[in-house]
Amino acid sequence: MGGNHYGVMKRIILSCMIGLPLVLLLSVLSISYYFFTHSIESATTASIVRIVEDHRDMIDTFLRERKADLAFILRSYTFKALSNPRELDAVFERLQEKSNTFVDLGVFNEAGLHVAYHGPYKLVGRVYREATWFKEVMKNGYYISDVFLGYRRLPHFVIAVGRQEGGKTWVIRATIDTYMFNHIVEGVHIGKTGEAYLLNAKGVFQTQRRSGGNLMAGDPEALELPESQSSTRTFMQKDSRGEKFLYATTWLREKNWLLVVRQEKSDAFKALYTATYLVLMVSVLGGAVIILAAFFLTGRIVSRIKRADTEKKDLGEQLIRASRLAELGEMAAGFAHEINNPLQIIRSEQALIEAILSDLKEAGGLKESKDLAELEDSLGQIRLQIDRCAKITQSILKFGRQSEPVLEDIDLRDYIPQVTAMISKKASVHGIKLVHDISEDSPLVNADPGQLQQVLMNLLNNAFDAIVSRHGSEGGELTVGVAPRDSEKVEIWVKDNGSGISPENLKKIFSPFFTTKPIGKGTGLGLSVCYGIIDSMGGTIEVASEKGVGATFTITLPAAG
Ligand code: ADP
Repeated sequence: MGGNHYGVMKRIILSCMIGLPLVLLLSVLSISYYFFTHSIESATTASIVRIVEDHRDMIDTFLRERKADLAFILRSYTFKALSNPRELDAVFERLQEKSNTFVDLGVFNEAGLHVAYHGPYKLVGRVYREATWFKEVMKNGYYISDVFLGYRRLPHFVIAVGRQEGGKTWVIRATIDTYMFNHIVEGVHIGKTGEAYLLNAKGVFQTQRRSGGNLMAGDPEALELPESQSSTRTFMQKDSRGEKFLYATTWLREKNWLLVVRQEKSDAFKALYTATYLVLMVSVLGGAVIILAAFFLTGRIVSRIKRADTEKKDLGEQLIRASRLAELGEMAAGFAHEINNPLQIIRSEQALIEAILSDLKEAGGLKESKDLAELEDSLGQIRLQIDRCAKITQSILKFGRQSEPVLEDIDLRDYIPQVTAMISKKASVHGIKLVHDISEDSPLVNADPGQLQQVLMNLLNNAFDAIVSRHGSEGGELTVGVAPRDSEKVEIWVKDNGSGISPENLKKIFSPFFTTKPIGKGTGLGLSVCYGIIDSMGGTIEVASEKGVGATFTITLPAAG
């Protein structure tokens, strides 16, 4: 499979892993955000409406009670009685006990003449016939004024009530303490910036506004005044500083004053901003986590798939190699067998020639001569070569699994040191450090000790060759290790830091007659014989190597029992 293939696979997995959760996350967040903001908005608006209406009822009650206080006095006393300053003083004192918001109290006859007064000013004798408040009282029976300056040059407002007595109407009038009234109207607590104030029908402040706005000054925001009698309104409007406010307004019932409650938008919708901030944070963090996790997991998945593919490929190659080796083994064994027979005949013929020759010599039929010596030399050479051929065919037969192993239980913890002892001398001569890494819990193996020794000696000798060719006689290191693997297997490994094997050669290393050694030095049969032997014991032999670093041969054998 090409790298491009993995790239496409990676992109598909990645986009699914990022796209799906991200879409889900964002839709859940936006839906909940929508409903949440909606509910906060309506809850905030509902709460400011409730506040303005409760507050209106409270102020209305206050005005109604003050009006009732005055009406009670009117009904309880005669004009004559109240015109008496001492009586008026006593009445005012009782009135004060009921509500200390009254500042003064005056009595007027039907012509608008101020006949008696209790209070801090000198007003007796003044005539109010033409004053609006007096005319209104004459007409409607009562009057609540706007805040005005009047004769006293101080902002105040009055409540006046009239009564018919003996065909004539007389009037009492009281001034309300603007400071206290202010206090009542201002007394609204919402958030940090919530405030309440009154405007008259011309948009003039009837109470102080906490965030700026003087009594009797015009409203700088010039709120559009709703029609009188209309119900509570809420709206958003910027003030002169550009700050956005949430407003709620309602008309009082007792007087055509507009009660305004307002709060800075950012203050009123603080929870909303917090929610927005949180939603943004969660989106960003969640998104980041999703993306990171997707990258991480995709990387892992693709590399797993890659590894599985390589393993599959390796396994396939191993299988092919193994079956090729098996075929080769069969063929080689057959071949060796065929060669062996003629070899035995040649051997016996050679022995016969030697015997006849020595008989002739003893009988004196042959004299010592140069030719005879050459003949004997030649015969010796023939014997040597026949022995060599016999050895090779023996090896081939072993590779071809022709000789049955004699199995017994071997304790590798003792056995391995015995084998390595045989080469320890050679190791020290070549300056090679021999290391054992033998696990104490290695189980017994069922194997042919002679054959196993042959395999190990082969591996050790190959390692020596590789080490010497890389390091000469210094710096070599050879480790022989044993450890249990899974529960039913044992691993024996021989690891060297020699010249290593190129990937090219790694594939052919167990093939018979594969060698990199010069002619006459290596036969290329060593590892193929090892392979045959280990295979016949029901085990496997594998190699791992990097060119220029070293090689590790690993034998896996079934544990005994
Ligand atoms: P021979 O030793 O006769 O060449 P082998 O079958 O034992 O035959 O080894 C085959 C080849 O494998 C060697 O020629 C050598 O190139 C390589 N080889 C074996 N063992 C090692 C090793 N430990 N390090 C490097 N190369 C090795």
